[in-house]
Amino acid sequence: MTTAIAIVGGGKIARDQHVPAIAGSDDFTLAAAVTLPDAELPGVPNFRTIADMKAAMPEVTAVALCTPPRVRHALALQAIAAGLDILNEKPPAATLAEAQDIATRAAAAGVVLYQSWHSRDAAAVAPARAWLQGKAIRAVTITWKEDVRVWHPGQEWIWEPGIGVFDPGINALSVATAILPDVLRLQTCELRFPANKAAPIAASLAYQCAGFPVSVEFDFDRKGPQTWDIDIATDAGDLKLSLGASKMALNGKPVDVGTVPEYTALYARFARLLAARRSDSDFTPFAMVADAFLLGRRVEIAPFT
Ligand code: NAP
Repeated sequence: MTTAIAIVGGGKIARDQHVPAIAGSDDFTLAAAVTLPDAELPGVPNFRTIADMKAAMPEVTAVALCTPPRVRHALALQAIAAGLDILNEKPPAATLAEAQDIATRAAAAGVVLYQSWHSRDAAAVAPARAWLQGKAIRAVTITWKEDVRVWHPGQEWIWEPGIGVFDPGINALSVATAILPDVLRLQTCELRFPANKAAPIAASLAYQCAGFPVSVEFDFDRKGPQTWDIDIATDAGDLKLSLGASKMALNGKPVDVGTVPEYTALYARFARLLAARRSDSDFTPFAMVADAFLLGRRVEIAPFT
């Protein structure tokens, strides 16, 4: 038995990742989409609201929310009202209060909520966590630099207050919180805002975690080679995660971690949660973004073009 699922939001991530991952899954069938008129998904019936979709297609029991975060709370509540299980893209919502409200209401209604963090399903995350067991970590350096023009072409929502460079940066934070042994406590933070934008394009953050420093550089204006690295110095050598934690090396030597794509693993995890009727809604990476805005010193830089 496969789960009939509907994608909500027909933009870049829905088309690039969710549609192919569902097509390649034995656990799910893409049955419908809930989209705006300019972004209908081909090959399935498209509806304007979750309620209309559920009324026309009661066999649909789950939704994948793939819209920008601002509208997620309203959509999640509509899904919960329709009794649908939810896979929620990252970041979870516009605010932490909204994210927590989604989880509370999902639990009360008995629907499964999977707050996904696609980078946690990158191939090297579980091997890295396992290798770090019992090692003394000395220092961690996170370097996450990409070109917003490539990954978010023409997307104005990315510049709304509260997102900006944290849209990719939260992926690094989701990996760090999955492999490091303790809470990351923010010490200092600089947020660099283009003069013409309401969200930061770059950030420097310094954390303490179980007695070792974690320094973080996020940049959304990186032309040329893109960098998604986490370097961890330990008493037993150096661990490097690269290409968004899809690759791993120990003391410079590559380690075979396999090549299962993130979204294949992500949908397999959602299937396991559905089978167990269990939710997974860890908002820690999102709370760390909120921390950055609580403690961050704002610096204005040249306008973004
Ligand atoms: P996007 O290309 O702008 O797509 C978002 C889509 O949602 C648009 O088609 C938008 O329609 C639609 N939408 C907005 N409000 C809606 C509503 N109320 N009902 C139905 N559809 C609605 O953005 P994206 O890059 O796919 O990003 C979406 C989410 O995925 C973000 O949270 C992002 O962090 C996450 N994500 C993105 C990437 C990436 O590489 N881009 C990677 C991983 C995760 P309109 O175009 O008509 O506004």
